[in-house]
Amino acid sequence: MRTLEVVELIRKGNLSIEESTHKVIEEVKKLTSEYNYFNTIAADTAIKRAKELDAQIKKGKKSGKLLGIPISVKDSICVKGMESTGGSRILEGYIPPFNATAVQRCLDEGAIVIGKTSQDEFGFGGFSVNVGVGYKVPKNPFDKTRTCGGSSGGCAGYTQKTAYNQLSIGESTGGSIVEPASFCGIVGLCPTYGRVSRYGLMDFSNAMDKIGPMTRTLEDAALLLEVIAGFDSNESTTINAPVDSYTKVLKKSLKGMKFAVIKEAFAEGLDPAVEKHVWNGIKKLESAGATYEEISLKIPIKYGISTYYLLGTSEASTNLAKYCGMRYGKQDKLEGSFNEYFTKVRSSYLGEEAKRRIMLGTFARMAGYRDAYYLKALKVRTLMINEYKKAFKKYDVLATPTVSILPPKFSEIEKLTPLQCYMIDVLTVGPNIAGLPHLNMPVGMEKGLPVGMLLTADHLQEGKLVQLGSWLE
Ligand code: GLN
Repeated sequence: MRTLEVVELIRKGNLSIEESTHKVIEEVKKLTSEYNYFNTIAADTAIKRAKELDAQIKKGKKSGKLLGIPISVKDSICVKGMESTGGSRILEGYIPPFNATAVQRCLDEGAIVIGKTSQDEFGFGGFSVNVGVGYKVPKNPFDKTRTCGGSSGGCAGYTQKTAYNQLSIGESTGGSIVEPASFCGIVGLCPTYGRVSRYGLMDFSNAMDKIGPMTRTLEDAALLLEVIAGFDSNESTTINAPVDSYTKVLKKSLKGMKFAVIKEAFAEGLDPAVEKHVWNGIKKLESAGATYEEISLKIPIKYGISTYYLLGTSEASTNLAKYCGMRYGKQDKLEGSFNEYFTKVRSSYLGEEAKRRIMLGTFARMAGYRDAYYLKALKVRTLMINEYKKAFKKYDVLATPTVSILPPKFSEIEKLTPLQCYMIDVLTVGPNIAGLPHLNMPVGMEKGLPVGMLLTADHLQEGKLVQLGSWLE
């Protein structure tokens, strides 16, 4: 059943929210014990809220676009009263006294938060294996020996596996919405930078972080984006522009739509199975009425990884500086000098990849290296944006595979160097660096594993992604 229909049943009082929430929570517990999708399961709060909503509906006092619908939230996004750690041991026990704006907007529409999903610590990774000290790694819903992708791995795996109408709120800095969506065969819609408020999101890289929908259907993604998008006086980088009705453009005719297939994305290293399914997707769009051309777009794929990892680690290293065990972060026994104390706290409670990024970022911003690395990366970003903008003068949307490979096995990931791990993002960092909206659509299965296609549009053109993407569903 469509989520809109479930909401309608609930609104009319034909479905008990309490009953369905009980079932959802039971399933969450079961799946988490098997697949590690949640860091925190909010059983009591969810049931309590379900009861309240049922009572309000009886009195005719409650409606809302997401009435009674369960939502799961990536751990790095704050939910009031619910432990939110960003998957990091250094924030163990942190209970936010406020809701992230995206979460608050869902609650205002009648949604129920069921828990916080597992992820790479603070978002540092593409396989969800860089979990904080003592956290568990989420497993792919199609094959437990493989990754869900990352960093929003828990969101993606759970959304694929659940039997219920559930929407998930994920986060992307360099690909963490679309990449796990691709590996788990769901829809991931990363909006334009500033389209959705970052208020209440734990910063990884402020200039690139975005919150966005991860859902089973494109209609759900469109619906959720309508709810969470828009200006927020608490967040100065949100865009003050009207929010489109994304659900209205589903299956809108593609006549006159022109998209470009980026040649550089179909290069060496691309799994032939991925290539085959993505081309099927391209042909599907063509037969639905869109036209396409193959074009060259050099900068994002050639320089994306180095640019992204310089900017991302530079910002991450400054953002993590506050977690030192004094004002922020887990406190330890106070002893020794400040430096000794901070070192002890950070050494014990931050994971290996977080430490690596702190060192890389600190290096890139150091006197003497700043011009050569950090400032240069900023310049390349501008070149990249210009190249994209030029393409969008001619085409509505750009198409590539989302990831070049099928979800790898954990045993294969173990053998990769950090740099090889970073390469997984080669096709997703470009749109993220440029702040462009992008969408993963499942386009096929190969050997029982999902393949995804990436569509990228110009700033604030999420509607075009939904319009085009709906013909792939
Ligand atoms: N895989 C990328 C990284 O490790 C992207 C992470 C993200 O988008 N949060 O930085």
